[in-house]
Amino acid sequence: MLLFKEVRDLQAHLYGLRQAGNRIGFVPTMGALHQGHIALIERSLQESDVTVASIFVNPIQFNNPTDLEKYLRTPGIDMEMLINAGCHVLFMPEVDEVYPRDLNIHLELNFGYLTKPMEGTHRPGHFEGVAMVIKRLLDIVKPDSLFMGQKDFQQLSVIREMLSLLKMKINLVSCPTVREKDGLAMSSRNVRLTAEQRQLAPVIFKTLKETEQQILQKPSRQLEQEAMRKLTHPGMEPEYFNIVDGRTLIPVNNIVDHDFVVVCTAVRLGEVRLIDNLILKES
Ligand code: AMP
Repeated sequence: MLLFKEVRDLQAHLYGLRQAGNRIGFVPTMGALHQGHIALIERSLQESDVTVASIFVNPIQFNNPTDLEKYLRTPGIDMEMLINAGCHVLFMPEVDEVYPRDLNIHLELNFGYLTKPMEGTHRPGHFEGVAMVIKRLLDIVKPDSLFMGQKDFQQLSVIREMLSLLKMKINLVSCPTVREKDGLAMSSRNVRLTAEQRQLAPVIFKTLKETEQQILQKPSRQLEQEAMRKLTHPGMEPEYFNIVDGRTLIPVNNIVDHDFVVVCTAVRLGEVRLIDNLILKES
């Protein structure tokens, strides 16, 4: 695996590969890698000729300074995992390489409702930061395909919309959520859970599955309220639990009126905030 820290060097390398007809797959991450990230690398290796991963903890997508400060950084282990997975190129830039002072990369995009509910309400400015860094990274890497996890469902919706609004011809591949054996979605934040919090955390996926089982029997609003109660424990507090249209993210009243339905949730366990979702219907 080749490691690049500077845009210029990475671009020189990728230019040659692109000219030779190679299809480039790109997996952006913030590091602290786990099997969920590696699944994206593997998917890219299957579908592309050259796989580029990036590790960049994007300061502007953190609305909470403590979350940014406490974000786990394990570059040595990350590199080892990427090498073992067979990743070809790692881009690991410093902040001023991604955001040079004289480059105006401010995006004036109207995402409509997509950035308003759920994460948009609870993490103001988050998606603007995500869209800005992904746009900048795409401009640097110029991939044919972009591989992202369904784990961050709303993020995927926002990036799909961004590609469409900017008419960027990049194939966005949504990859299924990789989970621990007990159902907890893998996340770089899981290691910050205490033993007790870790024991409690699988209730998130369990509640999503119970909602799936009852979706045709009970009204959505009732299921959401029941789930909020199931996710409330001492030291655990749900922020939202929403059954939404998978394209518009607008709340769904009757599942039969929609062909794509997803349930999304965010739960706080002490200082750690976990998100998860489950596709309830896709036809
Ligand atoms: P992050 O490093 O958390 O920004 O995530 C980088 C990419 O990995 C994003 O596209 C995430 O959606 C994806 N990802 C994170 N966790 C998982 C998981 N458990 N399963 C699948 N993809 C994931």
